[in-house]
Amino acid sequence: MKRSLLPMLACPRCKAGLELHARAEEGGEVAEGDLTCDGCQASYPIRGGIPRFVGSGAYADSFGFQWDRFRLVQLDSRNGTRDSERTLAETTGWSDGDYRGRLVLDAGVGAGRFAEVAAKKGAQVIGIDLTRAVEAAQANLAHFPGAHLVQADIFAMPFRDRTFDLAYSIGVLHHTPDVEGAFRKVAAAVKPGGALAVYLYSAYGVERHSSDALRVLTTRLPVRLMFALSAAAVPLYFLYRAPVLGPALAKLAPISLNPDWRWRWLDTFDWYTPRYQWKLRYPEVLRWFRENGFNDIHTSDEPIRMSGWKTGPVLRTGGA
Ligand SMILES: [Zn+2]
Repeated sequence: MKRSLLPMLACPRCKAGLELHARAEEGGEVAEGDLTCDGCQASYPIRGGIPRFVGSGAYADSFGFQWDRFRLVQLDSRNGTRDSERTLAETTGWSDGDYRGRLVLDAGVGAGRFAEVAAKKGAQVIGIDLTRAVEAAQANLAHFPGAHLVQADIFAMPFRDRTFDLAYSIGVLHHTPDVEGAFRKVAAAVKPGGALAVYLYSAYGVERHSSDALRVLTTRLPVRLMFALSAAAVPLYFLYRAPVLGPALAKLAPISLNPDWRWRWLDTFDWYTPRYQWKLRYPEVLRWFRENGFNDIHTSDEPIRMSGWKTGPVLRTGGA
């Protein structure tokens, strides 16, 4: 944990400030220690250089496993693509100038593919995750002076309301037990004049019915077995690309058809393993933005990608 993170943190229970007790430091970062609350006296450990406000990944544990195994696959800096940068841009509609010097929340950081993009654009980015995925993100992002990782629950974040200039949550809220509740928490963390962007699975299309039926079984299987089974997507890809048969199979049992075999394995595991996988429609997500004080709504095609600016003094630069 970088010491510069401390002023941004607050006790998730009572929102008072936290006091840092460092026991071990490494390379200018706190490796081991505690954060104690000035208000309610609660204590939160720092382990492996990461403040831990939750003890386990709970319902989302498969993501901790997933990002440990696939830590580098989706990082633009490692796979030579600009896929994460493009997805972030299409979801948010933000320009490079919107990031520079801003405080940004990545709600559900995973292995840090989008936080890497934000950090490169000059933002201070705080990535939170319920799971030990934060350890993969830490390994990927620690070298950015403006990147911070925190293990925390989206429903009890260690920040005060109206802390962040920008917040985004990409492919995450639909994996929580209450998508709208999670949305409200992230929306509340945004400053007046700041912006929020989300990427959510959509309820449109027919393939979801067959994968929903399969998920009744797959979400109950051991994670390690699912990891092995998902590897079938690697060779099955060639069968799924065959004329006539391929499209039929894709409707019966959708798998990732990403040309990168590791990404295909990862995405297939990511689709069939998480406990929660809600699917949304545009009108309800638009309503959440409006009800939480956001205007100037930007939408992109499926999956549901939507962003908006919170009423307040304008932070937007409009620059390139
Ligand atoms: Zn407290």
